[in-house]
Amino acid sequence: MQLSPESLPRRARLLPLLHAEHGRRGWLSPESVTAIAREARIPVAEAWEAATSYRDFHFESPAGKAQVCTGLSCQLAGAATEAGEAVMGCRFRCYEAPARGHDQPFPEQFIREAGPLLAPDVTDWRGLERARSVGREAALAEIESSGLRGRGGAYFPVGRKWAGALAQNRPIALVVNAEEGEPGVFKDRALLCRRPRRVLEGIAIAAELLQPAVVAIVVNGEAEAARMSLEAALASPGLPQNVDPWVVPGGGGYILGEETTLLNALEGRKPVPRLRPPYPVESGLFGMPTVINNVETLANLSVAFRDGAAAFRSSGTVDAPGTKLFSVSGQVREPGVYELPLGIRLAEVIERAGGAVSGSVTAVLTGGPSGGFLAPSEFGVALAPGVLHPTGAMVGAGGLVVLDESSDVRAAVLAMARFNAEESCGKCTPCREGSPRMLDFLRENDAGSLEPLLEVVGAASLCGLGQMAPNPLRSALHFWPELFR
Ligand code: SF4
Repeated sequence: MQLSPESLPRRARLLPLLHAEHGRRGWLSPESVTAIAREARIPVAEAWEAATSYRDFHFESPAGKAQVCTGLSCQLAGAATEAGEAVMGCRFRCYEAPARGHDQPFPEQFIREAGPLLAPDVTDWRGLERARSVGREAALAEIESSGLRGRGGAYFPVGRKWAGALAQNRPIALVVNAEEGEPGVFKDRALLCRRPRRVLEGIAIAAELLQPAVVAIVVNGEAEAARMSLEAALASPGLPQNVDPWVVPGGGGYILGEETTLLNALEGRKPVPRLRPPYPVESGLFGMPTVINNVETLANLSVAFRDGAAAFRSSGTVDAPGTKLFSVSGQVREPGVYELPLGIRLAEVIERAGGAVSGSVTAVLTGGPSGGFLAPSEFGVALAPGVLHPTGAMVGAGGLVVLDESSDVRAAVLAMARFNAEESCGKCTPCREGSPRMLDFLRENDAGSLEPLLEVVGAASLCGLGQMAPNPLRSALHFWPELFR
């Protein structure tokens, strides 16, 4: 029996109410935030602090300005603003850069390569039926033997995470992370817009095995098309009866994808990371042991049960079986989502995506603002969990932004440094103070001051955003030192 959102503490209403009000009026007035704070029974100052921490919310009327994306892929495609237009962060439509305007449903034609995950949507719930028929203990053992790892970027083994929550012997919360906020990544939007039933089957399997007291699905607040597709699938006939999720639109910001930040947001608190321990599987949403899984992870669960663990292990690597959704964008001929086995060589992905638009590929950013730039000498690397290069490049959520001979590598590196400085939530000093200084030193070509600062920010920051913010800079200094002298 799952709890309804109304049975959670009232402060959980803060983010949904802020989002609804913002959706109605296009901005939040002081009076509206005050009224929402009263409704959620939160001190007004606390509600205001939380509201103003979200990237997507405006606090004055935007007066109908057109929106122009200035994410890296759009920047590489020559995005430029005209008078009266609003400059926005990544719109996550990198496959049709330069993007203008609001969110759109993910177009089917940008699913460039489909495997078991992106095959036409399920209608028969075979995976769920199999999970039910083998029994709970056997099903949990099958997750272990499938070797499934999370697809949000950390690749933590799913079976081990679930075992950590189940070992608490208390009611569990299941949080589905669709707060896709990394520039250059749009695969969760593709899944939710185009294969929502596969995601729902994965959630239903998780609900069957974890028996959670609450299921919350957090969808990026600006991914309206993905949320509407999910809600339409939830309302469609034949849905498994064991899932009654609470669908919550996020409020924006890269940091919201961080697990404990997501928990704070759901609890109506300021969206900043929590100290660990305790880990979410020990004490997460309102103190419950909490499993947080990315939507791609859960969609893989549907595939693993439909086809069986052995079939699931037939692609990918021994340590990281299965396929991965790569979001390929930038100066490449056929941008879009590619479902390919983990362990595939970067060069092969570039080739499948049609190669460079202009001349040859000169660099690829892997893993977004927390990853790194790779030079052509590294394109033979296998795309699998772990570092792809000692300077910090990694697969992460699977974003691959391609630069070619027309691209300005230095400008791209500066864009990543600026993004990390702007997205720092400010909770800890090394990241809050260090990220802007890293950007300054980079602009000033002061590599001598920059290099020790990269070490400090990486080592002393509280969460992954700060810990990995030095990576794109470190890799660029390694491969193209002449650009920063
Ligand atoms: S590392 Fe940055 S984003 Fe993370 S808590 Fe510290 S200030 Fe916030």
